[in-house]
Amino acid sequence: MTDVDGVVARLVAELGDRVLVDAPFGEHTTYRVGGRAAAMVVVDDHESLSRVASTLAGTGVPVMTIGRGSNLLIADRGFPGVIVHLAGDYAGIAVVDETVVIAGAAAKLPVVARTTVGYGLSGFEWAVGVPGSIGGAVRMNAGGHGAEMVDSLLDADVVDLRLGERTIVPAADLDLRYRHSNLTADHLVVGCRLGLTPGDERKGQEVMAEIVQWRRANQPGGQNAGSIFTNPADASAGELIESAGGKGLRVGSAEVSAKHANFIQADEGGVAADVLQVMIEVRMLVEYAHGIVLQPETHLVGFTDDEMPWRS
Ligand code: FAD
Repeated sequence: MTDVDGVVARLVAELGDRVLVDAPFGEHTTYRVGGRAAAMVVVDDHESLSRVASTLAGTGVPVMTIGRGSNLLIADRGFPGVIVHLAGDYAGIAVVDETVVIAGAAAKLPVVARTTVGYGLSGFEWAVGVPGSIGGAVRMNAGGHGAEMVDSLLDADVVDLRLGERTIVPAADLDLRYRHSNLTADHLVVGCRLGLTPGDERKGQEVMAEIVQWRRANQPGGQNAGSIFTNPADASAGELIESAGGKGLRVGSAEVSAKHANFIQADEGGVAADVLQVMIEVRMLVEYAHGIVLQPETHLVGFTDDEMPWRS
């Protein structure tokens, strides 16, 4: 058995009030449902990160990173381990060599999009409407509007939280595919380099304005985590769900959005079990109607294999 309490006590001794014991994990996600974690450590500089990595190394205590929590569904029972959240020094953005941008993992995607356009660079406008962080976007190979991280990512600065080792990993070694990378929960992205192209600032601003307008018109606000399922080859998960009659499907405190069928809205004070059940029922509806089995894009944490038909 792993000594989670012992590890949390050591983290508190090392980092003091940057460790939140019995942290409300679910509240830090955009769904705002789900349970607690044994601890959340807010890491804002390299020295703290080394201490966290050396405390966790070799312990076997479950660990994972949370960025902006915009692609996560946390089980109501919570997560019996330590979550790491980068902040402070890790939110920086710098332009080097004219078209190469270094972005910290905690930098917000819309801020990186606006900053790079402000520097007269093109290639990251797509990210203006994605409410995640650079770290989460590398892990997910996030994308939209015809572009994705892999198009501009040169390399990522990755710390292995189990081994305490830091490596610059070339993008080609991350197996970046549609909403996929080979990074696991043990890998903490602390930053990356993006290769962009010289562009026209006014044109970039126009592109971003159009994207923001499109998102407002087509995607709901409120408590959700964006697309719940990935698009199957040559099909839109949202259209499949809508034509299968899934729009508006409700289980307790969660409902398929009336605005976008691939979004699930959670009610204020809702529970993760209802969101999961809506996912399961929507998936069955689509399989029955179209013979297509949808796969989740949202990362589910703290659920058992038996609870998830797709074993994510
Ligand atoms: P989190 O949700 O915090 O984490 C997601 C995964 O990444 C987890 O496995 C987590 O452990 C891991 N992770 C987070 N930070 C790190 C790190 N520093 N190092 C290593 N692993 C890390 N996604 C798209 O791709 N395209 C879209 O157009 C899009 N639109 C969205 C619209 C809305 C309204 C919402 C709510 C979400 C949308 N998303 C979209 C989903 C989400 O914003 C992206 O997947 C985003 O990249 C997740 O970043 P995050 O920081 O929130 O990650």
